[in-house]
Amino acid sequence: MLSHEHRTDFCQICKQEQTSIYAEPVRDFKVFVCENCLEAAKYNFVFICLSCGEVFIREKNLFLEKINIPQLFEAYLDCKDLQIIQGLDKCIKCDTERISKYMHNKKIAGNC
Ligand SMILES: [Zn+2]
Ligand SMILES: [Zn+2]
Repeated sequence: MLSHEHRTDFCQICKQEQTSIYAEPVRDFKVFVCENCLEAAKYNFVFICLSCGEVFIREKNLFLEKINIPQLFEAYLDCKDLQIIQGLDKCIKCDTERISKYMHNKKIAGNC
């Protein structure tokens, strides 16, 4: 799911490095991500709000420990070794509902 763009842009995770690498968590939604942040994505699940662009980073093992829905746990376990950037329809800032609501969203798990 990682591709190279011809141009460079600021990394949307750390907002500091220029990069030409981008991920596409959902169709036609490009997220530029630098080498450092890709490295971090090996150990952390990275979520990006598709509404406001806010980035959330969760340590993989801690995140997995908190999942108590078997199917969801399996889905995330499958992508534990992948460097993935996942899209959230709305983050906690865009919606008053808690972030966990979106973990039930099939689209998120389906991106793995
Ligand atoms: Zn970065
Ligand atoms: Zn948001």
